[in-house]
Amino acid sequence: MEETDVIRNRDAVLEEIADACRRSGRDPKEVTLIAVSKTKPEEMIRTLYAAGTRDFGENYVQELDGKIADLPDDIRWHMIGHLQRNKVRYVVGRTAMIHSVDSLRLAEEISKESVKKNVISRVLIEVNVAQEENKFGFRLDEVKPFLQQAGTLPGIRFCGLMTSAPYTTNPEDNREYFRALKKLEIDINRSGIDNIQMDVLSMGMTCDYTVAVEEGATCVRVGTAIFGARDYSNR
Ligand SMILES: *Cc1c(COP(=O)(O)O)cnc(C)c1O
Repeated sequence: MEETDVIRNRDAVLEEIADACRRSGRDPKEVTLIAVSKTKPEEMIRTLYAAGTRDFGENYVQELDGKIADLPDDIRWHMIGHLQRNKVRYVVGRTAMIHSVDSLRLAEEISKESVKKNVISRVLIEVNVAQEENKFGFRLDEVKPFLQQAGTLPGIRFCGLMTSAPYTTNPEDNREYFRALKKLEIDINRSGIDNIQMDVLSMGMTCDYTVAVEEGATCVRVGTAIFGARDYSNR
């Protein structure tokens, strides 16, 4: 891919987001595009950075660790992949948001490490809305009970909800899942659990981000549409 392609691709995604906002009466400023750069070289990140992008998403702690060390300090890194408890220390204090809190034990570990480092970690609760077997995350009905247990942990702020909907060639297929996540957010905000107020909804990937925006996403996580297909053959 040519250097300028990633910029052109990003701009096309931003246009689509703006169109989806217009269709649904939203302000495009409410939506953050997270460029998902996992498996992609640092050069591509630098190119987008030079063209104004500051939010990047990564899945693998080791890769994230190296990129944080090499790339500019004002990048907002989003940890979007499954996080193991023994790797929490590499992520806390170095990322803008952890999108993938999927167990009480993980939340406790993030809390412990955050207190130790004297930081407040902004996190999202991962919800497996479609109840796919191969995916991490709470069921919809588990989220409120989880918050009742974890909501008061020190050093951790539950900012919102995240989901990865099933891969599809028709984004309309996933509208119901995005709607369900938005509904849960409203429900949580109304129930006043330990004064928890959420305002982040991280949903929508290359295959379905336009529909996610129509249904209220505030973060979309887009990789392939910006950087091209991923190659896992040498991992
Ligand atoms: C890889 C990944 C993305 C980006 O997926 P694309 O289909 O390439 O846009 C978004 N979210 C998560 C959690 C991912 O693992």
